[in-house]
Parts: sequence; C-alpha cells; structure tokens
Amino acid sequence: MVRINENYSKIRSSYLFTEIAHRVAARQAAAPDAKIIRLGIGDVTEPLAPAVIKAMHRAVDDLSSRETFHGYGPEQGYAFLREAAAKADFADRGVDVSADEIFISDGAKCDCGNIQELFSSDVKIAVGDPVYPVYVDTNVMAGRTGKNDSGRYEGLVYLECTAANSFVPGPEAAEGADVVYLCYPNNPTGAVATKEQLQKWVDWAREEKSLILFDAAYEAFIRTPGIPHSIYECDGARECAIEFRSFSKTAGFTGVRCGYTVVPKGLCAYAADGTRVEMRPLWTRRQTTKFNGASYITQRGAEAVYGEEGRAETRKTIDFYLENASIIKKAVSSCGYNVTGGVDSPYLWVDVKGPSWDFFDRLLDEANIVTTPGAGFGRSGEGYIRISAFNSRENVLEAVDRLGKIL
Ligand code: PLP
Repeated sequence: MVRINENYSKIRSSYLFTEIAHRVAARQAAAPDAKIIRLGIGDVTEPLAPAVIKAMHRAVDDLSSRETFHGYGPEQGYAFLREAAAKADFADRGVDVSADEIFISDGAKCDCGNIQELFSSDVKIAVGDPVYPVYVDTNVMAGRTGKNDSGRYEGLVYLECTAANSFVPGPEAAEGADVVYLCYPNNPTGAVATKEQLQKWVDWAREEKSLILFDAAYEAFIRTPGIPHSIYECDGARECAIEFRSFSKTAGFTGVRCGYTVVPKGLCAYAADGTRVEMRPLWTRRQTTKFNGASYITQRGAEAVYGEEGRAETRKTIDFYLENASIIKKAVSSCGYNVTGGVDSPYLWVDVKGPSWDFFDRLLDEANIVTTPGAGFGRSGEGYIRISAFNSRENVLEAVDRLGKIL
C-alpha cells in the first residue's frame, strides 16, 4: 500500500484561480456577448523582442549541422549567458556577482520552489502576507508547516504587508525565522523596497545567521533611481542572500522559460554540529542531480536580451507595460481609491474599501473586467484587488473607460 506525502493534503492554494475561472465562466454564460477584459493575469501579452527571435532562429540553425550541434549543455548554464548576465545585471551596476555564481534554469518558479530542499526540515520560514504562493506551498509540501485551519499555516511566520508599513515589513516582524522570502518589486502588491529597507533585512540576517531568499523577478520594471535592482546592492548581502531572476517578465519568456539563481561563493548555512557549510556546492549538487539545463535555443535567446538591440527592444516593451500601469493607476486613483504599485511594477494593489471578492464580482458583473481578489494571496490581502498591466493598450483604454463609468 503506497502512502502519499500527507503534506500535500494540507495545501490550500489552488482555490484562487479556479474560483476566478469559475466566476468568469458564469459571467460569460450569463452575458454571452460581453467582451470580458482580463486584468487579473500575471502573464505577458507582447511578443518577444526581434533580437531574441533572431538569436533563437540562429540557434535552431546551429542544431542543424554536426559542427554546431549542441546536446546536453552544462547544468549550470552556458558560459555565454552566465557571463552576459553577470556583466549586465551586476558588474555594470557596480555589484559583485561573478558568472560562476549564476545558475541558469528554466524559470524562477522552479528555483524559488526547489531552493528549500537545501534546508533542514525544521527551519523556520517567514513569508509576506499577501504572498506569491510558491514560497508557501513548497514549504508546506516539504512538511515545514502544520495545518491551515484559519487561512494561515501553523508554523510559518507571516510578515504583514499593510498600508501601515507601506507594504514593506521590516525584520522586527521576523523574530525566530531562519529563512525569509522577500520579493521586490512585489507580487502582488507592486510595492518596492528602498535600499535602506533592504539593508535592514541584510543586517538582521547576518546578525541572526538567517538567510534571505530574494525574488527579483520584476527587477526590470524599476525605473526610479536609487531603488535597488538586486539584494547584492546592500553591504554584506553576499553572506546571507540568494537571489532569483527571471526572463519571464523582463523579456516575455513566460512561455519560453528561462531564469537564474545567484548563490554567492562563501554563502553558508550550518550543519547540525554547527559547522559552516557553503550553499553553492549544495545547489550545484541539487541542480546537477535533478536538472539538465535550459535548452540551448532558449539560452541563446536570453543572451540576446543583453545585446544592444535586445536591451533597447525589451526596455521598450517594459515601458509599454509601465505606461499601461500608469494609465490604470491614474484612472482608479481619480475615482477615489488608494492605489499602491503601478510604478516600478506591472501590478497595482487597490484598496477597495470592502471585501475583495465583492469588489471582484462588481467589476466582473458591471464592467466585464477580471481582476484578482487580494484575499487570495493571504489574509492581509483582504480588502484589496490586484490589477495587472500586462495587456494590450486597446484593452487597457477600454477597461479604464468602463471603470470610470461604474466607480
Ligand atoms: N516570482 C514571482 C514573484 C512571480 O510573480 C513569478 C511569476 O509570476 C515567478 C517568480 C515565476 O517566474 P518564472 O516564469 O521565471 O518561473
């Protein structure tokens, strides 16, 4: 008799998007002619940059002849991509990360989810509330939590992200935590953290011998000078932080799949007897055992994001999404709602002055607009909705016009 991993039975997450799909389908059935605009999804809408397409076509051609064919690549990723990322994402910003500290993968979701395998099963985990659910669910699956009877898992430390702390909690809320997940620019709130705020986390982690898992999936949306693009802009972060990057939102790779994780040399956690153990060899071991690399074609495409053309083209696309965000933010704010995010981020977090799901239903029924109820991201998300700026300009303009009429 095969017993299942009972931890899976504790998971309480798939409800959000299933419920949204269910309500949207019901609305469409009730109003078959309604043109429903989806401002709920966190997926990109614009095509890949021409430079990326060209590079991927060339890479396909490489595979067509014996001389330039590529089979299994290095599990850590091709040097051409790791070196391009180390230069453009770090060295050019004066940040110390070398190519051999970068591990290319098929996206940040897997890495954010897999990283917890390196920690003992009894480490105490801290997450934001609201939160990108992957951080939570992967730790539930690994047995680091108790039950979830009240909307929160026993055993997790929840860092409340509320208007009172401008959606950026400080380390004083993380007492007792060994590992903390931070995500800036944040999904779902769209909030960004200042260097001073991140430095406090780094100082705390060094003091407490804790570890920060920093998700920078939305880094490319930062336009405000001074807002850190990487945790490694903070002094001492190399000793206490792992960083995740993604080409998904940066360059439209949600379907292509590519990202990377930075594990600095010298970053250590502790063995049961208290000896320091370097994390980089552990992650190397994990990846070489369980992962066979992102495809050559994908990595050539990602490399092109760092070329002159690719950089200009991807920046233009992000500017386009940011302009969408700005249009939505202006419209919703002018109707009298407090909106966080939408600057340095593709997400807007709207205080709807009442229950999330009621407001979601109102927008769906009265304006045929789909958003994401904040309550789905955690208890502290109640009273908010998330609006995504990933859409065509036509849809965004139509949506703000409809919102103006009903709000
Ligand atoms: N991290 C955050 C905060 C995200 O919102 C997402 C995707 O929505 C990811 C990671 C996943 O990125 P990827 O597509 O690289 O797996």
